[in-house]
Amino acid sequence: MIIIKDIPKIQELRKLQSKQIWGFVPTMGALHQGHISLIKQAIKENDVCIVSIFVNPAQFNDLSDLAKYPRKTEQDIGILEKEGVDVLFMPEAEDIYPRDFNTIVKNLNLSDQLEGMTRKGHFDGVCTVLTKFFNIIYPQTVYFGQKDVQQLLVVKKLVYDLNYNITVKGCPIFRDSNGLALSSRNEGLTLAQIRSAAVLFQSLLLAKKIVSKGEKKSAIIIAKMEQLINQVPSIKIDYIAITDVVKLEPVQDIAGGVLISLAVYFGSIRLIDNIEIIP
Ligand code: AMP
Repeated sequence: MIIIKDIPKIQELRKLQSKQIWGFVPTMGALHQGHISLIKQAIKENDVCIVSIFVNPAQFNDLSDLAKYPRKTEQDIGILEKEGVDVLFMPEAEDIYPRDFNTIVKNLNLSDQLEGMTRKGHFDGVCTVLTKFFNIIYPQTVYFGQKDVQQLLVVKKLVYDLNYNITVKGCPIFRDSNGLALSSRNEGLTLAQIRSAAVLFQSLLLAKKIVSKGEKKSAIIIAKMEQLINQVPSIKIDYIAITDVVKLEPVQDIAGGVLISLAVYFGSIRLIDNIEIIP
């Protein structure tokens, strides 16, 4: 695996490999099986698999969250070598955002709801860094997890609106045997908390079951989910939302496919999950 930190070196390599099909998996590191599932798909479908590890300061609205984000570079490099990744791009924040950096890429409609409510400016940071990465790397295909479903929709719109010749692939959520969606943030949980956090997926499955039995009122479904999650007193719900799957606007009465998303705090750790339901 070639490890590159400098932007011009990646550009040089890309020029040399201009005939190759590059598949790109952007990550913030502290890699787990969820990331690996994306990477395996990228390796299978492309000539070259490039992974980035970059904890993007621009997408953190909370500096303490940025400071405590897990960083496991040595371990990550071992995992990527073992998987057979071709290129690891690991830029420094100062190179991505030099002192005179003065541009923001913003999605106007999808940035302020759900994750954007609590994490102000988060998606501006995501869009800005990905625009830079796409311009540096020229990938043909990029891989994103359904776990960050709002991010996936934002990236699809970014690629469409800015005419990138890139295919955006959404990959299924990788869960542990209890249903907890894998996340780098789970590293901050104790084993007991990890077990209790399974209630999040259970609440999504409960919602699915209620809908399959004919319930159409989002308020009733959300109330039942809250009741279940509140059985774990140390979990504080940030939001539970039932929205359409394109604009992420709230749906009061379920008539077609919907997205149920949630975010909670387990102590200081924020966890998200979602499920798409077709009644
Ligand atoms: P992150 O390092 O958290 O920014 O995640 C990098 C990519 O991996 C994003 O596209 C995430 O949606 C995806 N990802 C993270 N966790 C999972 C998971 N449990 N299953 C599938 N994809 C995931």
